Amino acid sequence: MPRKKGYEQFLSSKLAEGPGVSASEDHLTSNEDAPSPTQSPSNPVSRLLKKEGKKQRTFSAPANRNRIPLHQEEDYSSPSLFDENLVDELANALEKTRVKSQPDLSDAPSSTSRAPFKAPSAVGRRAVITAERLRDTITGAQRDLHMLSKNSVSELIYTTLDNVERHLAYVSKKIKEIHHPDADGQVRAITQEIEGLEQVLCTWRRDYPDNFSPIKIDNSKLFVNTIDKWNTPTLIAYTIALVSRVFEGVARRGSSALLKLLKIYGLSITLLTGGPSLQQTKALEDIPESIETLETRLNMDVPSIPHAVCPCCSYTHPPMYPKNSRTPLYPTHCTERITQDSEPCGAELLFDSKPIKTYHYYSFYEWFGRFIAHPGIEQYGDKFCDDVSATVEVPEVRRDFKDGTFVRSFKGHDGKLYITERGEEGRWLFLLFADFFNVEGNSLHGKTSSTGVTGLVCLNLPPAMRNNQAWVYIPGIIQGRQEPDAKQSEHRHYWRLLVTEFEAGYSRGLRPFHTHTTHQMGLDSNKRIFRVAIAGASMDFKAARPFGGFLDVTSHHTCFLCKCWHLTHIGRTDFENWRPADIAFLKKGTQEWLTAPTIAQRKQIENFYGTRSSELWRLPYWKPTLQLLIEPMHTLFLILEQRFARRALGLDNPEPDGIALDEPEQGNLKRKKAKSSKKKLAYISFYHEFTPPPHPSDLTPLGMGTETGRTSDALRELFDEPEVQDQRLSLLEWNDLTPEQNSARLSRNEQFVSTIQGDPRAFQAVYDLYQSLSSPAPVKEAEKQKFLKKLSSYRWIVLAFVCNNLVEFPTPKHGGEGENEKKVNGLLSRSSLHKGDVTVKMFAQALAHWRLHKVESDRFKWPHFIPKDKQLPSIPWLHLHGKFGKSDLVQHLVEWRMNKPLERLVPVKIDSTYVLQRLQQAVREVITPSWVTRPPEEVGLKRAGTLKADHWRTLFSIHLPLALISIWDEDSPSAADNASKMAPVLQTSMHLTCASIAMTRNNLSLECRNLFRESIRAHIEGLKLNFPGFMLPSHHLSFHIFDFMDSFSNVRNWWAFPFETLIGKMQRISTNHKIGELELTILESICKNATFRRWMMLPDCPELVKFCRNLLDKAYGYDKRNELAQNDADDLQGANPKEVLEYSANPTARRQVTIKFPMDIAKKIGNLNPICFSQVPAPKGFYGTPALQPVGNSYVCYRPPKNSSREASLMGQIRYIFEHGGTTNMAILIQFWDMQQDGNLLRSMQ
Ligand SMILES: [Zn+2]
Ligand SMILES: [Zn+2]
Repeated sequence: MPRKKGYEQFLSSKLAEGPGVSASEDHLTSNEDAPSPTQSPSNPVSRLLKKEGKKQRTFSAPANRNRIPLHQEEDYSSPSLFDENLVDELANALEKTRVKSQPDLSDAPSSTSRAPFKAPSAVGRRAVITAERLRDTITGAQRDLHMLSKNSVSELIYTTLDNVERHLAYVSKKIKEIHHPDADGQVRAITQEIEGLEQVLCTWRRDYPDNFSPIKIDNSKLFVNTIDKWNTPTLIAYTIALVSRVFEGVARRGSSALLKLLKIYGLSITLLTGGPSLQQTKALEDIPESIETLETRLNMDVPSIPHAVCPCCSYTHPPMYPKNSRTPLYPTHCTERITQDSEPCGAELLFDSKPIKTYHYYSFYEWFGRFIAHPGIEQYGDKFCDDVSATVEVPEVRRDFKDGTFVRSFKGHDGKLYITERGEEGRWLFLLFADFFNVEGNSLHGKTSSTGVTGLVCLNLPPAMRNNQAWVYIPGIIQGRQEPDAKQSEHRHYWRLLVTEFEAGYSRGLRPFHTHTTHQMGLDSNKRIFRVAIAGASMDFKAARPFGGFLDVTSHHTCFLCKCWHLTHIGRTDFENWRPADIAFLKKGTQEWLTAPTIAQRKQIENFYGTRSSELWRLPYWKPTLQLLIEPMHTLFLILEQRFARRALGLDNPEPDGIALDEPEQGNLKRKKAKSSKKKLAYISFYHEFTPPPHPSDLTPLGMGTETGRTSDALRELFDEPEVQDQRLSLLEWNDLTPEQNSARLSRNEQFVSTIQGDPRAFQAVYDLYQSLSSPAPVKEAEKQKFLKKLSSYRWIVLAFVCNNLVEFPTPKHGGEGENEKKVNGLLSRSSLHKGDVTVKMFAQALAHWRLHKVESDRFKWPHFIPKDKQLPSIPWLHLHGKFGKSDLVQHLVEWRMNKPLERLVPVKIDSTYVLQRLQQAVREVITPSWVTRPPEEVGLKRAGTLKADHWRTLFSIHLPLALISIWDEDSPSAADNASKMAPVLQTSMHLTCASIAMTRNNLSLECRNLFRESIRAHIEGLKLNFPGFMLPSHHLSFHIFDFMDSFSNVRNWWAFPFETLIGKMQRISTNHKIGELELTILESICKNATFRRWMMLPDCPELVKFCRNLLDKAYGYDKRNELAQNDADDLQGANPKEVLEYSANPTARRQVTIKFPMDIAKKIGNLNPICFSQVPAPKGFYGTPALQPVGNSYVCYRPPKNSSREASLMGQIRYIFEHGGTTNMAILIQFWDMQQDGNLLRSMQ
């Protein structure tokens, strides 16, 4: 292969690259004169042979093998028969003979061609024959290549190069498998020829690179060992050993010992009946003695690519593999330049010739090859696309991801719609998650180290499967202790390969060697192209900002989704006015940042654009405003709800009469101080509707130069004050004038200005008159007279000009009596004015009237007055600060501020201790269905530990409303004294509850979505009134959840709950606790776990193994609510998933018990000793009797008996379940809160 470096080498071993499908097929026919004889590729003989081999386990003669043409393997490095299949059969057959001859329990050979037994000469002969044939292939490839010239048609060149590469890859792979000494000479010769050919090829590829054909994924090895090859006892032994290894984290030695013990155990069982039969021997033989062999056999290896990470700049250096070596090589020092002009980083990468820091990347192609090989996956993928195509209209009610607008508007590489216009191709969408967590668990003392994890979930799968750990792709674990430095966007280095693979997977497409379907159909290989894309990335803002390449939320660029960009505006609730951010602007920012020559310039750029850099921008379809989602779980439950409870309501270790806000958090004294000073609330005295500052993108015309130097010049220009211009003779613009009035005004202006310009005194007087008008309006009568007198002292031309500018002319009222009345009519429409038309006095009166009645009475700075009866004029000549100096503006602002309230607004004082008592009481006493996560009873106190997102959600949807209503609702029997005063706080809290409930609805209607947004708005308005200064960036961000409900549908499709569950599992994986080593352990463990679970999910798995799977799912918590709740929570409402599982296993299960039956009921039904049950199936889950601790619900709603006086449904608790009158199940329900009055009640529940 030409590019045998690092990652490329990895790829070349994984996939043989080639041109488009059609090209290679053309070639197949044109290549029929290739060295080996040809035969139909879909060779029925070969398939038959495969089967026979399996069934009879007889060894097919080598003669057979010679008939099999090398070139039948269309265009993959693994031909359909001349590989593992046959070799495997050979091995099996030989193994069989060995079983007969010496039935010991030694390790069975692994299923590769490495024949581990002493070689009879036949094997050596075969090795030589194989080598000879490989040599033929190489010679053919050489001939093809020599026939090419620079004058050949480029199509032919590409086809030939592609074929040669394929043959080379195939031969290189196969030659390594020949180990027999008899063939040593041939092997050496071939190796030399390979090297020569590689060099020639390399020269060609320099001019004709292949960067357009679909990426080929060689997943052929997955189809070698199928599950039906082994007996059930063997499979169970595999399961037991793998459980110990994968779920329990037992060391290799332990698991291998277990395998050996299992063999002995099996043998001992057979010895009870006089020793193993042939079949039993085979079953035992199939159990390997080392866990590694087993893992290889089940393809559980995790071929990750180890990168050396720079400890200084986090650059990930790919490995290079010298020829014939498996040991990766790295540069000794980091060569990455942080910016274009800076020196190479130079940090040492290696210690003891091993990387100081590593990052293992698990290739997506590798994962996808396995994914598509699993039965049913391809069909799920297609069904998703078909469903989307079938529904033309976007469903009003959002449930599944496919109900959103995103799937219907996302475009493919060809500009057509990705899903609905996909043609024959398979299309896949993924959702990206990423987070940092503490590998040692959530200790009370906060994060001690931060390990990063990325995960991708396939959105094509039905919701129930999607978040199943077996189908989640984990590309890699980022080594702690510190997170990469966000300031230099170091996070991007970890995603480089991931994005490269996804970019190619989108624009070039992927073509696995086989899918499960093509293999089942017996086709030679898969011809279908699959394309993959990252639909969205869902992360909390702590991860979203650095990974997405944006500044932190605490900067002025709080939000990259809209143009609300200043920190002072995080409390804005006028979402109707928000405009989406400009993607071109963001993209430009990120490019400028990346190419900036110095760090200082980067700082400038990021402050202006709000962007740093992210690999995601390399995806051709990446639009962060549509695809970088606001994660709802973190935003609403962990921030809005948690902070409201802890900071606003003070439910966090409250002291008897402490003020809730500004209360330091738990922790040692030092931290207490640090935190409390950090958390000081903003000093707020009043609210004012400020005009928001313009977003930088509104100030900059795009495309102002690609060189960074020019950008910073442009920036400087923007922020410098413009020359102060004297604009006293320029006109204001009024929008309420008709075109006729406007042109008359302009012509009058021309008349006045021509006079004033030639008269310095008049010119000065205009300025003076503006000053006079800008002073505060006179109040007392005497002052008013004085003011009028002053105005009257100006010359006619000056007054006329200013009145014309303000469009204020004398009206009959000031004009006074008689003939003047006629004169003043229609002044507005005259194109010229003369002294005879209007007098100085009339002008002065008009101006005085304007100053007294038509503008605000405070002082203003000309021309910044505010008219009372019409809109603000626009001042086109006032560019930015206009003619006013900074000091003028400062002065003006100070005056304005001093007129406003100065005292700090105080948050409502809350009796936090009492509220917390009630809340804890609610948690203790309220009976909740079993599927609700119960918060700890000591909530709010230190000993309750860290509350999870789910706890906050439950607290706010059930317990907090009950507690608050009981004390702050005036009608509550237990209302507190200050209930009426606290009503607004109660309201504010209830709005948050509403938002949370609306957001998490399964059927997300438009009404629900609007309710969510309105509730958030009402909550924020409530916060402003009751808890001034308490405002977080997440309050702003939560509004945007609404936008994504439209495009990505129901938040259950994209919230991080399932991902958090996965992180929880990672924290429980047993590792050696060494940072730098445990990451690979976690990655491998997660991948193996997934492979193992997928293996157990295979449909042809024997029943007993399926039973084992159910057992394990329960034991290891894979059937927890979080996984099931993602799908059809509606169907599960009121039922514990565990119950559902049990119910589905045996829907008629009733659990009979013997109990002492109460006499009074016995008498009532006339049966002293009925058959009783502890649980019976219910429509969802089970009904149970609480005294006997069954699974199931004992609280029920029921209709009163027909003869009862009551009509409404009653609530009660089941006490006994028994049989009465044949098939009827009878239950007794008691109104459990007023047991005395109602007594027992009999109900039939049929
Ligand atoms: Zn470095
Ligand atoms: Zn926003």
